[in-house]
Amino acid sequence: MIQPGAESLRKIAVIGRGTAGSFAAASVSRLHPDSDHELHHIYDSRIPALGVGEGCWPSLVQQLSQLTDLSQETVQQRLNGTRKYGVEFEGWGRADRDFVHYFTPQQVSFAYHLSVELMADLLHESTRARHIDAKVTGITREGSGARVEFEDRAAERYDLVFDARGFPKELHPGRHIDLSFIPTNTAVIRRCPAIVTTDRHGPVLQPTYTRAIARPHGWIVVIPLTAHTTYAYIINRDVSSLDEVESDFDEVLETNGVSKFEQRAVIPFPNFIHRQMYDGAVARIGNAAAFMEPLEATAITSVQVEVGMVLQIRLNRSIEHLERDAPVVNRFLTKTMLSFGLFVGWHYSCGSKYDSAFWRYARDHAWPKHRKVADPELVGCDALPKFDEMIDLMNQPVIDKSDWNRELAYFPLSSYCQMSQGLGCFQT
Ligand SMILES: Cc1cc2nc3c(=O)[nH]c(=O)nc-3n(C[C@H](O)[C@H](O)[C@H](O)COP(=O)(O)OP(=O)(O)OC[C@H]3O[C@@H](n4cnc5c(N)ncnc54)[C@H](O)[C@@H]3O)c2cc1C
Repeated sequence: MIQPGAESLRKIAVIGRGTAGSFAAASVSRLHPDSDHELHHIYDSRIPALGVGEGCWPSLVQQLSQLTDLSQETVQQRLNGTRKYGVEFEGWGRADRDFVHYFTPQQVSFAYHLSVELMADLLHESTRARHIDAKVTGITREGSGARVEFEDRAAERYDLVFDARGFPKELHPGRHIDLSFIPTNTAVIRRCPAIVTTDRHGPVLQPTYTRAIARPHGWIVVIPLTAHTTYAYIINRDVSSLDEVESDFDEVLETNGVSKFEQRAVIPFPNFIHRQMYDGAVARIGNAAAFMEPLEATAITSVQVEVGMVLQIRLNRSIEHLERDAPVVNRFLTKTMLSFGLFVGWHYSCGSKYDSAFWRYARDHAWPKHRKVADPELVGCDALPKFDEMIDLMNQPVIDKSDWNRELAYFPLSSYCQMSQGLGCFQT
């Protein structure tokens, strides 16, 4: 296939070696039609990658096999992976019942629980790049490309730069949409022994689910890998103290029969979307572009969408379309991320079985802000009206068969219906 953009995409930089940068570098190696393109994979070895994010969506299963040329079974084993069929919600909403949000089609489609460090190693094996260990001090647009400045190294010009340097240091209203309707901002992470039995001869076929356990100070995510199980308590540091969270965490582990654990980290995180994810020459990806708490494991999926969209547009469109295409791509990415954010924030709208300070804050103060934050005039996209349409559609007394396959930003109507019925937030 002729790809008219390839000739103006000769020299590419990927900055960052976390999940996002590793995925982008492997994707460039795989998708660029000319083997003589130049790819620089740049990262500062003094700045560690975040190293969390063990849940994904089914689309990554196929994509990892394509990027690595390995079978799904091999990929799963190389990643200490288990098969994730959905998320088990415990104690959420007002319906007073536990429920599962399945991938569609239910109990057929699966994703992985995986080790991010091992995934980065696997992606590096499939990447053909020059590796540069250096600190980037600035990226500036220069004509149809961008100039990257380094500490202790001469600057270089690239046709396309993927900026995967991780979370911004602080949010700025002019540059970021602050998703303040999402009520959490910190994760307390513990690593516990594995609970899945491995088969030495093949991948673990036993279906597994990410558990999302509502607790008085937020919720606890439980992710079973073959080598360990991760427990992370997702909280709001402005509402609960670390001492009360740790003590409730101990209680949950004890109830679950977990007698030992390794304290991993306390990670603060912002919930946000960068207003300019792509300008034609610089593409922010991963935690540099957008983040919302891990409830629906949207982060790796966001990277897949960001990298896929930017590479497709740059390879398949000739350079004269660059300035016209960039705002269209940026609007699409903003709408996708904001739709993810609205879906995740809505999970808190019916509270939980706990009438605690956290859940009152989440339901009564944070979630009601979503209409103001996502106002189309302020964000430049129609994610909010489209989200409202999905809620209205779901609440109709009869849903026409022609609407059954509707989706908003990859979440199908069936996901909305499963969550609404599980949480008990359908209209009466
Ligand atoms: C508690 C928690 C749970 C999560 N769970 C999930 C999950 O289940 N599923 C999911 O999909 N996602 C999850 N995530 C999201 C996860 O963080 C991201 O998918 C992933 O870590 C992406 O990170 P990144 O690659 O963008 O940045 P990072 O991992 O922070 O990597 C940044 C890279 O940039 C480099 N760098 C930084 N500054 C410079 C510089 N100036 N010059 C050169 N190099 C530089 C660093 O060396 C590093 O290599 C979770 C996040 C949190 C906080």
